[in-house]
Parts: sequence; structure tokens; C-alpha cells
Amino acid sequence: MSGKNVTEVVIAGADGIARAAQILEEGGLVAVPTETVYGLAARADSDNAVARIYAAKGRPSFNPLIVHVRDAHGARDLVEWSEAADAAAARYWPGPLTMVLPRKSDAQLAVAVTAGLPTLAVRAPAHPVMQALLRAVDFPIAAPSANRSGFISPTTAEHVMTSLNGRIHMVLDAGPTSAGLESSIFALRADRSWEELRAGPVERGALAAPSVDHGPARHIEAPGQLSSHYAPGKPVRLDATEVAQDEFFIGFGALSGDCSLSPAGDLSEAAARLYDCLHQGAASDKPRIAVASVPIEGVGRAINDRLKRAASPPSQT
Ligand code: AMP
Ligand code: MG
Repeated sequence: MSGKNVTEVVIAGADGIARAAQILEEGGLVAVPTETVYGLAARADSDNAVARIYAAKGRPSFNPLIVHVRDAHGARDLVEWSEAADAAAARYWPGPLTMVLPRKSDAQLAVAVTAGLPTLAVRAPAHPVMQALLRAVDFPIAAPSANRSGFISPTTAEHVMTSLNGRIHMVLDAGPTSAGLESSIFALRADRSWEELRAGPVERGALAAPSVDHGPARHIEAPGQLSSHYAPGKPVRLDATEVAQDEFFIGFGALSGDCSLSPAGDLSEAAARLYDCLHQGAASDKPRIAVASVPIEGVGRAINDRLKRAASPPSQT
């Protein structure tokens, strides 16, 4: 790959997508919009390419990656498929649902993708740019969120550049993402029930999953469960009803602030805007961030999950 530390931001049209496909083929890194957040893409079948993801993000090697496929056919080559997986895929793919399924022993994947686990996280994303890229190449694409490990996830090309400028080859820019929060992750258990590992746009009840205890002592299976994650690098105070002078205030509904998640109190809008407000708070002169409370219902569960981790002091990488 080229030795120059320059990251190009390219409009995600046909030419940009073709160039991105070329870079991936050669083992390089491209940030790509999905409907959830921008992903940092590399070919999932190459040890060197996948190693570059971990290096660019500063991601601990025990944290496995989600592998993106065009559709259920693409997933069947990589994981043990089942009726339960098929039903979930029929209902939610392409879309913001990641399934953790037993990895096929002969799957053509870099070892580091699964961080040594016998399972694999797979998703067929709906975003037309990521779909076009997946159709342009003949390998699955590993793509964690396109940010430095532990920092706020990116929902715009500018957010990606804040974190990874000079560390990756290209960013495909298609404007802000629509869902704004990472995919829901559900693991299929041996008894064929689903367990929710990470709250997201697909709600827990959708797959009739039992709830997960996110307590600190729990074995970390999906590092989105680390107690400090999505962190803006300064203290975050939750459920604020008024703002101190040294605080950047993120409002919701009637409580407006320096940035509002949704003036109308709409939870989907709040999910889509959450990371942008956190990025603004991180970049502001104010040394602290305060956030108004957001109802814990619907996608508000996932929003509160991310806020709790953003407010938690860093304890691990
Ligand atoms: P990111 O794409 O950076 O938002 O993170 C991907 C998430 O998927 C992390 O929380 C991983 O721990 C989780 N993940 C990936 N592979 C697996 C797996 N085989 N089992 C459980 N969780 C996984
Ligand atoms: Mg991430």
C-alpha cells in the first residue's frame, strides 16, 4: 500500500465506489457509510488487511469484528445457517441486525476477524453505498466503526477524519447516516433462543431475546459492552435538567441546549443525532458535557446504553 499518510475524502458515486473496491482488493482501508455509522472496511479474507484495521483504530485484539455480506447467501458461506437465522434474515436483512452464529470451520476468513472465537458476527447492511461495494468485490468485508477505539462513533465523513485522518486510504462520503447508532447484535444460543449482546435499532422484543445483564463482572463477549466506550474525552453528566457555565449542554425535547438531540422529542431523530452532538461537545471549549434525559423506550434504550458508556470513566483500552 502507499506509504503516504494522506486520507482522501471522495464522494460516494460510481467512480468513488470503484476506486474503493480497488483499494480493498489490494488490502487497504476505506471508511464507508452504512445506515448505522461509518464503517472502517477491509477485506475479511486477508490477515494483513484485517491487521491494518486493528492498527488504525488502536483496537485491542480481543475485540472481534463484524463481517458484512450482501445477503443471506453470502452469510451461508461463513456461518452455520439455521431456520432461526433464516427467519431473522428474512425479516431484518438488509438492515441494522448483526447475528452472532457458529463460524464454519472452512470459512475463508482472517483469523483475527473473530479474535479466536468459534462464532462470527455477520450483517447484510442496507445502505446503497455499502451494498454497491459488496457487489463490486468477491470477498466479505470486515468493518468496525470508523473511529479510534473507545472514542465516539462517526456518523459523517468529517467525524471519520477527526479520528482517522492519515491512518486510512479513503473515506467514501455519502452525508450523515440515517440510524445513527450501531447495529443491534443478537447471538443465537444452543437452545435456539436469541440473546441481545448490544442494543440498537432493531428492538429486543423483535427476536424475543432475554435481556442481558451488563454488570461489570460479566464476561465480555461483545466489547460494545465495555463499561467505557463511545467516550468524548471529557466528563459527561447525564439526566441534566439545568446547565452549569462550564458545560456543553446536549438537550432533548423542551430542554434545548448547545446541541439538541431532537427539539420535537423524537427518539429516532435523537438516535441519528446522538454522536454528532457528542462530537460537537468533544470539540467545544467547554471542559464538560451535560445531557438531558432521554426516555428509555423503543430506541431510547440503545441511546441510554451509549450515553451510560460515554459517561463512564475509561478503565480499559
Ligand atoms: P464495532 O463494529 O466496532 O461497533 O464493534 C463490533 C461489535 O461486534 C463489538 O462489540 C464486538 O465485540 C461484537 N462482535 C463481533 N464478533 C463477535 C462475536 N463472534 N461474538 C460476539 N460479539 C462479537
Ligand atoms: Mg465501535
